[in-house]
Amino acid sequence: MTAAEILSHLVSFPGLGGESNLPVARWIEDYLTEHGVTYTRVPNDAGDKVALHARIGPATDGGIILSGHMDVVPTAGQPWDTDPFELVRKGDKYFARGSCDMKGFLACCLAAVPHFQQADLKRPVYFAFSYDEEVGCRAGDIVAESIRDHYDEKPGGAIIGEPTMLQPMVGQKGIMVYTTVVHGSQGHSSRIRQEVDAVHEAARLVVFLEEKMESLIQAGHLDDRFHPNHTSIHVGKIAGGSAFNIIANECRFDWDYRNIPRDSAEEIFTDFQAYCHERETVCRKIYPDFRIEHLPLHPPVPPLDTAESADIVDLIKQISGASTTGTVAYAAEAGQFSNAGFDSVICGPGDIAQAHRANEFVSVEQLEGCSRMMEKLAEHLSS
Ligand SMILES: [Zn+2]
Repeated sequence: MTAAEILSHLVSFPGLGGESNLPVARWIEDYLTEHGVTYTRVPNDAGDKVALHARIGPATDGGIILSGHMDVVPTAGQPWDTDPFELVRKGDKYFARGSCDMKGFLACCLAAVPHFQQADLKRPVYFAFSYDEEVGCRAGDIVAESIRDHYDEKPGGAIIGEPTMLQPMVGQKGIMVYTTVVHGSQGHSSRIRQEVDAVHEAARLVVFLEEKMESLIQAGHLDDRFHPNHTSIHVGKIAGGSAFNIIANECRFDWDYRNIPRDSAEEIFTDFQAYCHERETVCRKIYPDFRIEHLPLHPPVPPLDTAESADIVDLIKQISGASTTGTVAYAAEAGQFSNAGFDSVICGPGDIAQAHRANEFVSVEQLEGCSRMMEKLAEHLSS
C-alpha cells in the first residue's frame, strides 16, 4: 500500500485524544502482522488505550526510533468543507483530521515497512506509536521507557515526526500547567484584618508569578532560538468569592509556564511553593486552616535541547536534505524521548499551521518527501 492509501485508513478512525485508540491501533497491528513484523503492546491500566512499538532489522546498537501519536484533536465546531474522517484529495492536497498532525507521518512509516525489510539493515529501525499526545503528551514517556527497557540493544536516537515541513527541529520549550487553590476563611468584609480573604492572597501569588518571570528575564535567561526568547509564566483563569461584602473562602487560578531548556521547571515551582509556604505561615496566625494547594492539570512536558553535534542531527540533515535546524513552539514527545536517553529531533511532513483547524491537510509533495526520507534512512542504516 502507498502512504496515501494507508493514510486513508488511519484517518477513518477518529481516535480523539482522551478517547480509546484501540480501533486505529488494531488496524496498525493487523498491518504489521500481515507484513510479518512482531510488535509490543503497551496498554494503559484500564485497557482502553494502547501504545505500540516494533523493531525491524537486527538487534544491534545504533538503530533509529520513528515516533508518532495515533490520536488527533476534535473537529467539533470547526467549519470543515469535507468529512474530516475521510481522506479527500483536492489538487495536490490530502484533507482529513490528522492528515498533517500526524497520521501522515505514521502512514509514511508503515508504507516503508517492505522497504526496510528488503534493505540489508545493519542497524534497526523502531516504530514508537503513542496515544493521548493531544491531551498532554500522556504516553510519550511510557513508550520511550518501554523501548529503553524492552530491547537489549541501545537505539541511537529518535525522530519525532510532528509536522515541521520536513525541517529538523532540535529544541522545544517544556510545559507545566497547574490549578492553584487558595483556601481562606469567611465573614463580613469589614473583618478583613480578622479573617483571611482568599482573593487577596491569590492576587499576591499571581503577582509573584509575574515577577518570577520578570526576574528570569532580568537575570539574562534568554534563548533566542525561541519566540518569545524567555520562559513565560502566565495566569489565564481565576475565580473566587461570592460577593463584595463577603470574605472569600476560596480562590483558584489556572496557570502555565513554558520553560526554555536552561530554566529548570522544578526550580520555578519550588520557588513558588516556598513563597506559598511563607504566606501560609503568615495567614495561619489569623486563620489556622489557611492553605494553598496545587493540582497539576497536565503531566509535565520536558523541554528538548539536542546538541548540534549529536549524531541524530547529522543523520536528520542527511536524510531530510536540510542544512539548518530550528526549534518548535509547540509541545511534543521529543523531550520525553530525550529524557529516556535517546537524542531526539522533530521532523515530519506537513505544516503545523494546518494542524488543529478545519480543512487540515498534508500536501502530496510533503508525503512523498517523507517517504523519500524513509528510503534514505534505510540506506543509512544499511551502510
Ligand atoms: Zn501532533
